[in-house]
Amino acid sequence: MTYRYEQLEQWDKQYVWHPFTQMKTYVEEKPLIIERGEGSYLLDVEGNRYLDGYASLWVNVHGHNDPELNEALHKQVETIAHSTLLGSANVPSILLAKKLVELWPGMAKVFYSDTGAAAVEIALKMAYQYWQNIDPVRYAKKTKFVSLKEAYHGDTVGAVSVGGMELFHRIFQPLLFERIEVPSPYVYRMDEYGNEEEIVRYCLQQLENVLAEQHESIAAMVVEPLVQGAAGIITHPVGFLKGVETLCRKYGVLLICDEVAVGFGRTGTMFACQQENVLPDIVCLGKGITGGYMPLAATLTTEAIYEAFLGDITENKTFYHGHTYTGNQLSCSVALKNIELMEKRNLVVDVERKAKKLANKLQTLYELPVVGDIRQKGLMIGIEIVKDRRTKETFARAEQFEHRTILEARKRGLIIRPLGPVLTFIPILAMTDEQLETAVDILFDSIAYMITQ
Ligand code: PMP
Repeated sequence: MTYRYEQLEQWDKQYVWHPFTQMKTYVEEKPLIIERGEGSYLLDVEGNRYLDGYASLWVNVHGHNDPELNEALHKQVETIAHSTLLGSANVPSILLAKKLVELWPGMAKVFYSDTGAAAVEIALKMAYQYWQNIDPVRYAKKTKFVSLKEAYHGDTVGAVSVGGMELFHRIFQPLLFERIEVPSPYVYRMDEYGNEEEIVRYCLQQLENVLAEQHESIAAMVVEPLVQGAAGIITHPVGFLKGVETLCRKYGVLLICDEVAVGFGRTGTMFACQQENVLPDIVCLGKGITGGYMPLAATLTTEAIYEAFLGDITENKTFYHGHTYTGNQLSCSVALKNIELMEKRNLVVDVERKAKKLANKLQTLYELPVVGDIRQKGLMIGIEIVKDRRTKETFARAEQFEHRTILEARKRGLIIRPLGPVLTFIPILAMTDEQLETAVDILFDSIAYMITQ
């Protein structure tokens, strides 16, 4: 049975509470109701086609409705949809774990969950318990976590505890555990600290000061490698991540790399850490892992971390954590197929090539006076909008310049999302060169139109 747009609109507004959405404003606007997906396009219930310029929240890899991914899912559902990993194993979760470990030399074990935030919660609890399992007396004080200014690691309370985004996280402050914040190299807004190299040196020095003074009470540092996505696509200069790793090693603090957003080809390599030859103690994966088909996340660890959890049953070294859908067969089988197709289609190399080509096209946006900064890593792009290029002042929140810009883009056939003053363009990884160029043209026209308003 198909429903009319008006009926669905009414029920949506009546029954659904949308995430990260001011519902008072939402109900005043015409909602976008998606019905189908075809390759790089989303189609709404009225038949309008849009380029998916946010990869359906940064997850889509091969495009929507991929016949091979569909087939993998069909095959699995006809076998079994779900059985638990608590006390038993299943075939796709075994094969996927093997594949993930093979993809990341140095990692040894895979702990499954179903969302990026859960993968981060697991990493935090693992890091804390690791020290307690090794020596609860010597490491009794190792309870704190370090993370970057404007860090974002998901929305559960543990993940919010290591988050640093004023707007999202301030209200929950009384519920959170202790976090130590260190500066992140947000080059565009750190003029007073000098050039890129000097900014990196400054940030690493601040981190070293914290670690030197407090390492005895710090369990781990959590970082989004290369790009802080939700903060507004803050791209870190080369060498920052390696510097963080070096300092964590020097002061005996575990390194957790949250690759939920940047993993699976997004930055032009399979994993972002590879670009700086960094081996974390714990890695969080999610989003693109299933090609954008099913909810799945994974926390990977080294052998050394894993071994600290081994012991007699009475030693209580067990990691007491698990979710009902941990290792779900549908998710794992489609993830396996996703990775197989990434390899078969040479997708990661292609992302790097397309990203380089797109970089030139993106420069055209600087012709628009409100474009303050264009940041890009692979196919992760942020365009920071400013009212005044010289002062870098942003538009007042009430003006909703960025929100109105994305509505203009939607009218022209492109779906993107703003994050504060930053327009984020995170296309489907398999988008063609032509589609990527069309998207930038639409962005250009939408911003240009807004300037005339
Ligand atoms: N970590 C990072 C770096 C993210 O960008 C996100 C989501 N945008 C998360 C964790 C949380 O993932 P999820 O929304 O699947 O819980």
